[in-house]
Formats: sequence, C-alpha cells, structure tokens
Amino acid sequence: MSDESFKHHLTLHPDNNKPPIRNSGTSDHSHPEHLPLAKETKVKPTGAATTTSNAAENASLYFVGTATTILEWEGIRVMTDPNFLHAGDHVHLGPGVTGERKTNPAVDLENLPRIDAVLLSHYHADHFDEKVENSLRRDLPIVTTPHAKHHLHENKPAGENFTQVYDLDFFESCLVSISNAENFEQNEPSTSPEARVPAIKVTGMPGKHVPDGALSVANDLLAAVPPTNGWMVELGYKPSISAPDSAFTNGYRIYISGDTLMVDDLKAIPKAYADKKIDLMLVHLGGTTIPSPNLPLLMVTMDATQGVQLMQLINPEVTIPVHYDDYDVFLSPLDDFKKAVESAGWSDKVVYLDRGDQYRFNVGG
Ligand SMILES: [Zn+2]
Repeated sequence: MSDESFKHHLTLHPDNNKPPIRNSGTSDHSHPEHLPLAKETKVKPTGAATTTSNAAENASLYFVGTATTILEWEGIRVMTDPNFLHAGDHVHLGPGVTGERKTNPAVDLENLPRIDAVLLSHYHADHFDEKVENSLRRDLPIVTTPHAKHHLHENKPAGENFTQVYDLDFFESCLVSISNAENFEQNEPSTSPEARVPAIKVTGMPGKHVPDGALSVANDLLAAVPPTNGWMVELGYKPSISAPDSAFTNGYRIYISGDTLMVDDLKAIPKAYADKKIDLMLVHLGGTTIPSPNLPLLMVTMDATQGVQLMQLINPEVTIPVHYDDYDVFLSPLDDFKKAVESAGWSDKVVYLDRGDQYRFNVGG
C-alpha cells in the first residue's frame, strides 16, 4: 500500500540472528545475545513527573559513548551514530583537521549483540568511524542524510556498499515496522490481522553544523563539516497489520539534536510539534571546535549555553546530554552544562548518563 506521508518503509525482524559485524567468524552464534549489564539504570526524575500513570518501563537507551546509543524496545535494537574507537585513536574530520579520542566505548564493536538498524545523523568520523564503516554487515538498514547515503551506497563498489540505506531530508519520514515481538518469542510470525504492530516513525529534523556567515568562508570548511540531520524518533503502534501506515500513533517521542548549532532553522521544530509532547531530548553538546591551518577556530556543535537555549526552545520532559567529552576537539565540558542547567533551575529535568549507563522509560499506547 503506498502511503505518501512516508518516504520510506521498512520492516525489522527481531528473529534474524545476524551478527552486526560481517565476516565475524564461522559460527553465527558467536556474538553475544545481550548488551552488557548497565553500570547504572536511571529513570525519569520525579521533578519531570506528569499526570500520566506510573506504568512500568518497557524500553531503554544504553549509552555507549560520543553520540552512540542503543535503543531497545519490542525486541529490536536501534543504534545511533556508531563510533567504537578507543582512547588515543585519531579521526579525520576534514582537510587538515583531526581529533583524538579521549575515552573508550562502553562496549566494543566485536561484542555487540544483534543490531537491527542504525540511525546516522551525518557522515563524520566521530559518528561513523572507519572501523565501523569497514566492519558493519552490508545489509544492516541505515537511516541517514542524502549526503551519507551517497558515501555509503552510491559511492562504494558493489559488495562493499551498504545495500539498505534510507535517506531522509528535513521533515521527511520513514516508518520502521517491527514484526511482532511477542510472536517472535514463540518463533511464530503473526498472521492475525488484529494484532497491533509496533513501529518507529523517524523524521529528519533540521540541523546546521556551520553558522550561516561562515558558509562562504572556505571550501575546506565545507569539506570538514558535512550536512547533518537531527531526528524525531516516535515509538508507537499501528492498530493492525492491515492498517495503513498513516494510522500509526505515537507512544513516546524522542528528539535527537544531531551535531547542530543553535540556529534559527531549529525554530521549525517546536512549530511542527506544537501540540505534541517531547518526552526525551538527546542533545549533542561538546562545543566541538575545529582548528584549521587557514581559518580561525570555529565552533560546530552546541556548548553549555546553547544546550540550555535548546532545552528552552524544545521543552522536552527529560534531557540527556551526549557527545560531550569523547574527543579533544570537544572544548565545552559537561560541568559547564550542569552549571548552566542549575542556574536555569532545570536540574530535575536532566538525566546524566555515563558511558555504560542506561535510561529506562515507558512507551505508552
Ligand atoms: Zn560530532
């Protein structure tokens, strides 16, 4: 059934037992079944409580490091911006621009359990590093920008290219349906037309890595900072298998900022979701500052002040900062954000995750 409100449709099957890494050995059961146990589990702070019921958490977000998180819900795992380099490793961020990793990921690429899809905000080495690009299985679905699709799909030779890359521009959506997880437990694919279908609506959100005035400065800079998306990730349900995708209803809404500065373009987001609650915001902080031989220092991600401005603009129930201390080019420490949040009086609306911690929440509906 064609449905014009979605640019792409895909279905994830939680019963596929493919390891996330290609050529990972002869045994297809060699990869772990689960993520490592979280160091700490956090839930919605009481200050952010609303009138909704205190239903049990049925979904989680595991923080790996940088902007890498793993969302688990209804038997599937979606990984954001995979970056699995270690402390001391270098990334190439553009002509003459490198960054050194200062931290280790909470789990290694080789020790990941099954991953069902990747959500990639932009094609930059601190979000999709060379090791990840060489290792991930080629048929792993990737939802990303048109620019990244060009590099991961069109621009690679057959056999090396990623075969399931779905590009979204700002305000374009993709519906990711999940073949029913309960039936998956029993290994019996659902055939009942009445069974509701878990699904994730992913919509590209505006983002801008470079301030407007700087765009004309140099081609060098443009090569160093690729176009980026933010995301609105809505976890919810279709009422039945036969229902059109437009019948999808949201149960939990997550805004992911991507690597963006606080620019006017972002004002379109609260306009588009004016009557809708944003349950959770993942904000890419760090005040990433790019040095270049020919140019003055340029900040390309939000610092503490802009992060708090974004909280004000988006008004999410809970905010979790990511992308804050993993590279030497991240110059705005998390402590600055903590202080800015405290002076705004919003400490009870922010949850801080260390690498290896998880946040658990409830998807309603
Ligand atoms: Zn980044």
